[in-house]
Amino acid sequence: MERHEVIVVGGGLAGLRAAIEAKIRGRDVAVLSNIYPIRSHSVAAQGGINAALGNVDPTDSIEKHALDTIKGADYLADQDAVEGFCRDAPANVLELDRWGCPFSRLPDGRIAQRSFGGAAFPRTCFAADKTGHAIMHTVFQQALRHGVILHSDRVALSLSTDEARVRGVVAMNLLTGELEAWVAKAVVMATGGMGRMYSMTTNSHHCTGYGMAMAYWAGAPLEDMEFVQFHPTTLYGTNILITEGARGEGGILLNADGERFMERYAPERMELAPRDIVARAIMTEVLEGRGFERQYVHLDISHLGDEVLMERLPQIWDLALSFAGVDARTEPIPVQPGQHYAMGGIETDQNGRTRLSGLYAAGECACVSVHGANRLGGNSLLECVVFGARAGAAAAEDSVKIEFGRRDAIEAAVRDVEGKIDSLYKNGGDRRPINPYRIMDEMQLTLWNHLGIFRDEKGLRKGMVKLRSLRQEHREKSGVPEASRTYNLSLVDALMLDGMLDLTLAMTEGALRRTESRGSHFRTDYPGRDDKNWLRHTLAYYTVEGPRFDYKPVAVTKWPTKEREY
Ligand SMILES: Cc1cc2nc3c(=O)[nH]c(=O)nc-3n(C[C@H](O)[C@H](O)[C@H](O)COP(=O)(O)OP(=O)(O)OC[C@H]3O[C@@H](n4cnc5c(N)ncnc54)[C@H](O)[C@@H]3O)c2cc1C
Repeated sequence: MERHEVIVVGGGLAGLRAAIEAKIRGRDVAVLSNIYPIRSHSVAAQGGINAALGNVDPTDSIEKHALDTIKGADYLADQDAVEGFCRDAPANVLELDRWGCPFSRLPDGRIAQRSFGGAAFPRTCFAADKTGHAIMHTVFQQALRHGVILHSDRVALSLSTDEARVRGVVAMNLLTGELEAWVAKAVVMATGGMGRMYSMTTNSHHCTGYGMAMAYWAGAPLEDMEFVQFHPTTLYGTNILITEGARGEGGILLNADGERFMERYAPERMELAPRDIVARAIMTEVLEGRGFERQYVHLDISHLGDEVLMERLPQIWDLALSFAGVDARTEPIPVQPGQHYAMGGIETDQNGRTRLSGLYAAGECACVSVHGANRLGGNSLLECVVFGARAGAAAAEDSVKIEFGRRDAIEAAVRDVEGKIDSLYKNGGDRRPINPYRIMDEMQLTLWNHLGIFRDEKGLRKGMVKLRSLRQEHREKSGVPEASRTYNLSLVDALMLDGMLDLTLAMTEGALRRTESRGSHFRTDYPGRDDKNWLRHTLAYYTVEGPRFDYKPVAVTKWPTKEREY
């Protein structure tokens, strides 16, 4: 049993930033992560991070960043939170710069900024098209410099609670297969997104959403889980992301008739409308028969010239060539929408505190909410640093007043997880166990088909019936053969699936109840936004039978809701 005042679960950008902040404030901090931190999904971020620095257009401002974010969110974001978020952005980006992040530069040496979807100004700071890589390495070095303790190869499986407070984490040591008890005064969840719940996603295999499920099971509500972002441009065939930066640099979208079809959907902003609008436009083109092979459209960046391509989008050129055999200098890139981001997550206040004492959350697994119904590109890396730092500060501050919990509480949590593992092994010993990977495939397809870019009551109900039956089948019959305990990933994936299946119910039922279209949640049977009934956040609480729902109002400060026009 190990003890730390603050334990951060997840070594991505939000987790490392939280850990640094808690450490700077004098706490003993450890990060638990299933992979080595710099392999976290944040390294894959491509296009950039937003801050109203005004380096390219000096008329940009914090207010304008806030308005773009709120409008992009289809007015579901909490405006007080957005204002603070945008106000903190310049200082946070300049801090990364001071820490040595190699941002791309303007000729006069200031940080370069590019245009991104839904932004009225070139506001996105970038390091070519490898921004996540540059920022992660910078922040990782700071974590080492400050003496943050890192424990990789630990997959967190459960939170231990006692006296209505989170007291620690149960994790599996992947090297030995042993369960370990980690006792803490404060636990910060920073486990990232849940893209692997979908069949077509830009997310890595570690984006399972399991951290959200851990918090949900422990009693923290999940907020706005029905809002799932589909990125318009993922490489056809693999769904590797083709950054919005490609359109920000001047890339255009064409259908099979050679038409620049965005003229019909967003005549002013065209390819740089928010993602929900561009993704729906591409799907409409494909569904109405104007796509290529009924699957994809073209993204053309060949006219940008070799110099711009190699300086600003070298990775995109490389990815298109390596994974689709397309030389983007001379040919268009085949693209289709894919799952990309979770706007919903563990409900937190503006300082990363959840409703459960001792539990904090930051990054993609959390919902503050600054993204509302649709996140703007470049605002997620920003969220990780702004709210990562705030959550780390809150955890550090609160943990001063707290004693460590009782040993028997965490021992009971370990026994519960052992029970789940025993049951998977027991079923695995049967002659014909149910294969959890089959259930995972069916879950991913069900979500894609019924909780995708377009939704309706019939499909959502069908999806819910299927997901409930998959959940039951998994709990009762899934089995894993008792193989080596070292890095038994079949066992880990079967455990992750358990969390994913509970999340699917919160997402699907939340979507069924929301009888309107807003941002990424588009109901073909309710195509209009309904502020009268639905200008509110969904909260899902875990119960054994399925989610229990509640709602809370959206904070509207100075931007009255309006119809979005782009
Ligand atoms: C391809 C791609 C490109 C993107 N580009 C941009 C961009 O240009 N700009 C932008 O703003 N946003 C971008 N995004 C979104 C942004 O990158 C992510 O939302 C953000 O990096 C998430 O950071 P995080 O720290 O919350 O999660 P992650 O970086 O995913 O880190 C999560 C950490 O938790 C660990 N973990 C997960 N579960 C467990 C568990 N049970 N036990 C232990 N550890 C666990 C993971 O291994 C990892 O260490 C992009 C996303 C994708 C998919």
